[in-house]
Amino acid sequence: MKIAVAKENELGELRVAQIPDTVSRLVKQGFEVWVEAGAGVGAGYDDAAYATAGAKIISDRALLWREADVLLKVNPPGKQDGALETDWLKPGATLISFLNPLGDPAIAQQLAQRQITAFSMELIPRTTRAQSMDALSSQANIAGYQAMLLAAVSLPRIFPMMTTAAGTIPPAKVLVLGVGVAGLQAIATARRLGAVVEAFDIRPTVKEEVQSVGAKFIEINLEEDTVAEGGYAKQVGSNTQERICQGLSEYVTKADVVITTAQVPGKIAPLLIAKETVAQMKSGSVIVDLAADTGGNCACSEAGKDVIYHGVTILSPVNLPSSVPVNTSQMYAKNLLNLVKYLAKDGELKLDFDDDIINSACLTHAGEIRNERVKEKLLVVSQ
Ligand code: NAD
Repeated sequence: MKIAVAKENELGELRVAQIPDTVSRLVKQGFEVWVEAGAGVGAGYDDAAYATAGAKIISDRALLWREADVLLKVNPPGKQDGALETDWLKPGATLISFLNPLGDPAIAQQLAQRQITAFSMELIPRTTRAQSMDALSSQANIAGYQAMLLAAVSLPRIFPMMTTAAGTIPPAKVLVLGVGVAGLQAIATARRLGAVVEAFDIRPTVKEEVQSVGAKFIEINLEEDTVAEGGYAKQVGSNTQERICQGLSEYVTKADVVITTAQVPGKIAPLLIAKETVAQMKSGSVIVDLAADTGGNCACSEAGKDVIYHGVTILSPVNLPSSVPVNTSQMYAKNLLNLVKYLAKDGELKLDFDDDIINSACLTHAGEIRNERVKEKLLVVSQ
């Protein structure tokens, strides 16, 4: 079975789906591995390193896609010379990548029509059994860390308390909104840098985790059930949302740094910081909005842009994992390796749809879209 690793063509994307170490593990498992020339350059791996690991280096991108039994990528396939890259894949081939099927469900339709078996890394369940394949978490963890560093270098003051002969500097006040994987790592990073940290999430169970990394949990009395099946956050109604926004404003205005990561998968990001609240913040304060590409948690955010509003800097980076491609590629490559090993039996991919990981992560197979939420999104788009 031939496993191909495509080069990422998106502007600013430096990650790669496999690194030489994981390629050598695939080769040891008996797979033939093809790597597109230059695929690893952004993450610091040249073609020679992949060749040493046992891969064949392929310069012809279309050939690599056409011949692949399994194609591994970071970002969803795009267009090349006006043609859809998915059209290069042979019917029956398997594509494993982030595919953003809830944001752009049309890709599921294209893949199903082409008889491609697609695994969407966003659909790997966030369960203990699937942890080693959970690429959303591995990338969000690093994004949370990077977001806090970005805030620290953008702030016109330092994070830790310092007692010096020239006077005492109080610690910076940091607020983290949304304490999932990215938020928790953002808190831990701010604490390591010496800031005083407060945090809020609509899931009350997060309180203990927040306290365990040394932050204070903000409690807001919400009269709505905020937790869905499986312990995930629910999208709350507009009254509750308004209540959260108002409840948070006194904490936001006192903070030097706010990192926002609040999100319910597949939904528009909840608005947590109104423009009027930003206007009341201290001049020089910094907001980093990680949810900007799904609408933003702050009313001033513009995805991919830096905005200054009433002296407050609002940063909305859209691909922080790519800013540290060495580690994020290493982690993503391992997530993919673990998934391929999980799917492979006797050198072939065997799909047992009674298995919850395979059932959840498989987006298309045998001409069908298998995910109900993606099907619903497609219906809405077509109406
Ligand atoms: P996650 O699902 O683990 O965490 C999201 C958290 O938001 C959850 O704890 C949830 O309870 C909370 N939440 C939901 N609605 C809320 C509300 N109304 N108020 C307060 N909290 C609420 O997600 P994650 O993996 O930590 O990722 C967080 C965000 O960061 C996502 O939007 C993700 O797309 C984004 N992200 C961005 C980048 C980037 O480079 N910009 C990189 C990775 C992740």
